[in-house]
Amino acid sequence: MTLQSFQLDLATVLLLHQCSFLVGALCFLYARWQSRRGEGLGTLAIGFMALAMSSTLAGLGDRSIISREIWTFGTFASGVIGYAIFWVGMRRLSSGGERRADWLVMIAPAVLIPTALVTQFYLVDPIRGAVSNFISFLSLAAAATTVLRDRRPENLPVRLVLSVVIALSSLLALMIVVAMLTPAIAPMTPRWAFFIRIICHFAIALFVIILVKERAEAALRRAADTDILTGVGNRRWFTSRVPKVMREDDALFLMDLDLFKQVNDRFGHDTGDQVLVSFADAIEKNLRADGSFARLGGEEFAAYLPHTSAEEAMAAAEQLVDVVRKLVVDSNGERVPLTVSIGVAMGESKEHSWSELLKMADVALYDAKNAGRDRAVLFSEPAKAAA
Ligand code: GH3
Ligand code: MG
Ligand code: MG
Repeated sequence: MTLQSFQLDLATVLLLHQCSFLVGALCFLYARWQSRRGEGLGTLAIGFMALAMSSTLAGLGDRSIISREIWTFGTFASGVIGYAIFWVGMRRLSSGGERRADWLVMIAPAVLIPTALVTQFYLVDPIRGAVSNFISFLSLAAAATTVLRDRRPENLPVRLVLSVVIALSSLLALMIVVAMLTPAIAPMTPRWAFFIRIICHFAIALFVIILVKERAEAALRRAADTDILTGVGNRRWFTSRVPKVMREDDALFLMDLDLFKQVNDRFGHDTGDQVLVSFADAIEKNLRADGSFARLGGEEFAAYLPHTSAEEAMAAAEQLVDVVRKLVVDSNGERVPLTVSIGVAMGESKEHSWSELLKMADVALYDAKNAGRDRAVLFSEPAKAAA
């Protein structure tokens, strides 16, 4: 059985078309109600409602329920406005908020609707159909591009699928334009193109909801991995970053701010917090790009450097000690004295687990504190044995 042997009744297609926009609008409204940020969902709902209205007017006109002058103008105007609003909604959804120059999109309906009123071209079916479908082709193509392009700042897996579905709908709109202007070369009838677009509308609504969900999950994951005060990774994140079994050329730093209790006692807890933020910021800026850095808790931090010799690791640790010594944190015009001690442990030839390496780094850190603080000390087994 071929595709063309199915009979699509126009009234049914129009009814389904209208339902697809209504269901989409309801999905967007529900998601808007549940989400704390707007994210363009309300705008998308308004866009889909305008399109549902356009479709409803066409359906009523098809059954001669309202006068031709009214339904042709109504369906054209609400269609053009609906697609422009849809594009604005997609721009906002894609970036997670309002965008500059959103209003520029509304120039299209602002120009087209008065032109239609003056020339009355909307009364000529092929012209009305071609113009409104061409507008929908343009706004859908623009929306698909925006959704895909914004994967640079925010790489959500659903972006690709959503933009493909919108692009497919856009392509079908273009096909309808071709079918209306030159039916002889059209690859499918407008009715069939409309029918496939109905499925696209449901898919767009579904993938928009998935985008909102993926975005929320990514935010939760970020929050679960981030230290709330300093904004660097937390212990949970660090544990997931370091390999289960350390390699010979892996280095682990355990860092502890020196006499931090005195900082709190002398300058107050808020200044203590500020010091922790400045410290974390400085280390993150000065750590090698392939290194991982996290706050384990309190004034204790850790860093992991892969592919490093003991000499390179010590040079890096000493550089960090130096950076912290020079760090200026001001409290009411007075400079807060700040130094750090770092215990360094290497994977060595044995295959240590990361918690074993952490213990070794802790021993080295203890040695650094005992030796007068403000320094980096490398853990060494023979030294321990000799002692
Ligand atoms: P040492 O050189 O031996 O490490 O001395 P210390 O004073 O740094 O060590 P101690 O463990 O006695 O004190 C750590 C202090 O860090 C105690 C605690 O109040 C403070 N601290 C832990 N977490 C925070 C925080 O989030 N903010 C502030 N302001 N202080 C914190
Ligand atoms: Mg401590
Ligand atoms: Mg300390």
